Amino acid sequence: MVSCKDNVKSKKPEAGNFALAIHGGSGNIDKMNLSDSEKLEYQHVLDSALHVGYAILQTGGTSMMAVEKVIKVLENSPLFNAGKGSVLCNDGSIEMDAAIMDGKTLDAGAVAGVRRIKNPISAAKMIMSKSKYVFLYGTGAEDFVVENGMKLVDPEYFFTKKRKEQLEKAIKEEKDEMILDHDGKTETEGKYGTVGCVALDQAGNLAAGTSTGGLMNKKFHRIGDSPLIGSGTYAENDVCAVSCTGRGEDFIKNVIAYDIASRMKYGHLSLEDAVAQSIQIKLREEKGRGGCIAIDAYGNIVFNFTTSGMFRGSVDKKGNFYTGIGR
Ligand code: ASP
Repeated sequence: MVSCKDNVKSKKPEAGNFALAIHGGSGNIDKMNLSDSEKLEYQHVLDSALHVGYAILQTGGTSMMAVEKVIKVLENSPLFNAGKGSVLCNDGSIEMDAAIMDGKTLDAGAVAGVRRIKNPISAAKMIMSKSKYVFLYGTGAEDFVVENGMKLVDPEYFFTKKRKEQLEKAIKEEKDEMILDHDGKTETEGKYGTVGCVALDQAGNLAAGTSTGGLMNKKFHRIGDSPLIGSGTYAENDVCAVSCTGRGEDFIKNVIAYDIASRMKYGHLSLEDAVAQSIQIKLREEKGRGGCIAIDAYGNIVFNFTTSGMFRGSVDKKGNFYTGIGR
C-alpha cells in the first residue's frame, strides 16, 4: 500500500539538517507606529528566542524541546500577546491558550483559559507527556500542572499597563483589538500578538507550538484557534509543522494548519504552494485575517500573511539568522 506521505517524500531530506521559525503575531503593524527603538526591542526579543532555539537544535536537541524553550522566551517578554503581556478579556481578567504538537508521534497537548500558569506552552507539553488527555481548560488545567510539580503565579504577573489601556479603549470604542472592514483593506487598529514556533531537528522530527492571550476584549471564555490542533497548530513528520496567528474564528472555520498539511499530503503541493493556497486564497476568500509560519521535512521555511505585517524570524543549520516585521 502506498502511504499518503510518499507523495511528499520524492527527495530524501538531508541527514542532520535543522531549522526553526518563529512568529510574534500578525496584524496592522504599520499602524502601530513603532519607533525605531521599539522595533529594535521587538527584534532583540525575536533574536534572543532564535538563539535559544539554534543552540538546542545545533547540539542535537529535539524540535519539541526547541519549540517549548523558544516560546517560553516570547511568553516571558511583555511585548507579545502571550504569557506576560497577554491581552485582557472584557471583564479585565487574562485567559491564555496554548498548544504543542510532536510531528514524530502526533502526540499533542493543549490548554485554554488558564490564568495562573506562567508558561502555558510548558503546561501544554506537560499535558501531552504526563496525562492521557490532549486538552485541559481553566482551573482543571491549573490543578493538573500543580499535581505534576509546576508552581502557579499570581495573576497580577501577566498584567501590563499597555494592555490595561488597550482594554479601556476597546471597551469605550466597543471593539476588539482588531476590527476589520470586511473589504479586507481597512484595519482600524492593532495587531494580533500571539507567538509561535515551528522546528525541524537533526533527527528529522518536526514540532509546532503556539501560545496566546487570545483576542483583546473577548467575552464568555472565548477560545481561539491557537490551542486547537489542526486549526492554529499542527505538526506531522515528513509533511510540515505550522503555527498560525490572526483572528482565531477564521482559522478554526477553515482548519488552516491541517489544511496546509493536507494540501501537501494529499495534493502533493510544495510547502510554499500549500501555504499560499491556504492563506492567500482560502483564508482571504473567507475574509480571514492573519498568517502563519511553516516548515517542512527539508527545513524549508515559509512565512505568509494577509495582514500588513507579522513579527517573525528564522534560523537554519548554517547559522543564517533572519528577523522581519513588515512586508
Ligand atoms: N489567533 C489568536 C486567537 O484568535 C489571536 C492571535 O493570533 O493573536 O486567539
